[in-house]
Amino acid sequence: MQMRPCWVEIRTSFLENNYRFLKSLAAPDIELVAILKADAYGHSLALCAPAVLRAGARWIAVTSVEEGVAARALCPSADIAARVMVIGGVVPGQGAAVVEHGLTAVVWEPAQLDDLEMAARAAGMRAGSLPVHLEIDTGMSRQGASLEGLAPVLTRFEPGSPLKLEGVMTHLFAADESDGQINHAQLAQLQQALALVEAAGLYPDWLNVGSSASLLGGEGGAIVALAARHGMKAMLRPGLALYGVAPRFDPPFATEEPAALKAARSQLRPVLTWKTAVISVRTVPAGAVVGYNGTFVATEPMRLALVTAGYADGLSRLLGNRFSLLVRSERAPLVGRVSMDHAVLDVTGIAGVEAGDEVVILGTQGTETITAYDHADTSGTIPWEVFTRIGARV
Ligand SMILES: *Cc1c(COP(=O)(O)O)cnc(C)c1O
Repeated sequence: MQMRPCWVEIRTSFLENNYRFLKSLAAPDIELVAILKADAYGHSLALCAPAVLRAGARWIAVTSVEEGVAARALCPSADIAARVMVIGGVVPGQGAAVVEHGLTAVVWEPAQLDDLEMAARAAGMRAGSLPVHLEIDTGMSRQGASLEGLAPVLTRFEPGSPLKLEGVMTHLFAADESDGQINHAQLAQLQQALALVEAAGLYPDWLNVGSSASLLGGEGGAIVALAARHGMKAMLRPGLALYGVAPRFDPPFATEEPAALKAARSQLRPVLTWKTAVISVRTVPAGAVVGYNGTFVATEPMRLALVTAGYADGLSRLLGNRFSLLVRSERAPLVGRVSMDHAVLDVTGIAGVEAGDEVVILGTQGTETITAYDHADTSGTIPWEVFTRIGARV
């Protein structure tokens, strides 16, 4: 059936190249975990998980156990040696699914460990055969064990338990701040946590820290050094960069831009292009009002093009009267409010626009490009939200 025209195109070859580029920055000291949460940032887990595995990824991560089950179905452990990490927290009762689907949970609450241990015992797992990564709260106050609360968590890994402390994880919450001060404070906290882990007689393999901004902003070296001091290997978790968007730093690096970031801006290619089409064109007289509440008034006779993309598709309502889309390789302003299912473009100055013309919402047409940061800047958000709010019906 012919579909209402509002769709995204995903270039998995770009995703593969982006992964290989990031891997080349990381090699040989840093392992990468490809972040595929929230349906691969709206890019489709079903397309993106196989692509990163083709590019050589051995670790992928998602938010929840249910996303993990979906990811595992795409890379059955019998066929592919891929590890699937659940980074968003396992809720009590999900332990059995973690065991059954061979997922690697990030945990920090004693109750999470008890649930996993019970599930592992019920499945007859041997001592030390269910790997988990322990999250440490190094300052974000969102999740993770605090230094004070670490002792009761570490006792869950006593000899004989099926649980294995495979990794120690934290999240750098200001990795895009170019002065790096918060990173350093967090790594100092992490170092204290590692001392407590060692004092408990536990020797995890992986130090699991940092996102795209850490990899591109040059924090990798400090993470590798910290890991090495504790006999561990470093692991970083890029998401946004995989999809071809280099994170912005605040304030921007003036002169000493890290080499990795500079390379990233020329090497990463956006994986997603979002398109719609004109389905109807009309001419209105001067004085005509456009869209809900008539927030736009035609100042002259105008040609208007209707496109089938609205806020229910993820096109932010905040873009009305403030943004342009691409048609016939030119920028056509969005006039009036964005509706739930439609938006209206001013095509008065663009010759020949007619029903059926392809319209680019995010991506390149001819020599013009609209980026996720362009959307984010105008709608008061960040590229992560721009991608993840693209609606399922798109
Ligand atoms: C989403 C997420 C990432 C990836 O972050 P990017 O900025 O997209 O690279 C890394 N770690 C954790 C814990 C996350 O939740």
